[in-house]
Amino acid sequence: RAKSGGRGRAEVFDEALSRELVERGRLESALRAGIAAGELVLHYQPILDTGSGEVAGYEALVRWDRPGHGLVAPADFIPVAERSTLVCDVGRWVLAEATAQLVRWTAEGRGEHLTVSVNLSGRHVAQPGVVTDVADALAASGLAPHRLALEITETVVVDVLEIEEALRALRDLGVRISIDDFGTGYTSIHQLQHLAVDTLKIDRSLVEATTPGVLALVGLVVQAAHAFDLTVVAEGVEEPEQLERLRALGCDSVQGFLFARPEPAGLVADDGPLEPWVTEPRVG
Ligand code: C2E
Ligand code: MG
Ligand code: MG
Ligand code: MG
Repeated sequence: RAKSGGRGRAEVFDEALSRELVERGRLESALRAGIAAGELVLHYQPILDTGSGEVAGYEALVRWDRPGHGLVAPADFIPVAERSTLVCDVGRWVLAEATAQLVRWTAEGRGEHLTVSVNLSGRHVAQPGVVTDVADALAASGLAPHRLALEITETVVVDVLEIEEALRALRDLGVRISIDDFGTGYTSIHQLQHLAVDTLKIDRSLVEATTPGVLALVGLVVQAAHAFDLTVVAEGVEEPEQLERLRALGCDSVQGFLFARPEPAGLVADDGPLEPWVTEPRVG
């Protein structure tokens, strides 16, 4: 009896597992078809200079406009795409679209200093083709390399030699490299010195914190980053008090719902200062 009960549980487990595999397989083929059918869309969220409030650039954030499902968030399909090289197809599409969009905005008169940031999966960065993919997007759009920033999550940067080498090769193209979600991994100060990166993006979990220890830590990160000539962006800023703290700690740029949510290109504010720097309605 005990044995058959055990087997029963194993069968239930097997069924749940195979259902999940089937589900994942379906999602993957739907995504593959969706990319081909032009169902991916980008939303853009401004990154602001902490001192002036001027927009310094925009982070491109992918969504999947899946028929019958509405806008699917990246958390709900990127992990599935990362199970295969499908995530490289997503990456190539995002690179092409985001660089082309910044060129369109520039043609419409937005500042030439503006940058666009693209998130690349660690899996994509570890592929030998990643440098060609980025170079192709720059060539096709005509965007100057220094106006493109590639964001790579901290957790994949550390201890992966292929990625360290790829970052160096990408940086040789002239693009900027940002370590995303900084503070969620275990990069040491020593590694910061060796990584070919330009920017640290401090994760929202650190931006939210109010305990003296964590605040001191954020201050140390900013100081170490500046000592290595890196700039620091704080992400997920939602409260005016967070902005004040980050300003006091010397953070260069800020990004978050306090200033603007990610929006489709047509709805993204131009490159002037945003609230709370500008509280009066702007004219012209
Ligand atoms: P991320 O790169 O760290 O992006 C920041 C996420 O925080 C975005 O979520 C953004 O909408 C959200 N966010 C921004 N400001 C605030 C705020 O003030 N409060 C809160 N609560 N959230 C804020 P989103 O767009 O859902 O993206 C989630 C993650 O998915 C991204 O995290 C990134 O890791 C990944 N992702 C997004 N687009 C792409 C892409 O094109 N390719 C790849 N490989 N990954 C992507
Ligand atoms: Mg990012
Ligand atoms: Mg981030
Ligand atoms: Mg984050």
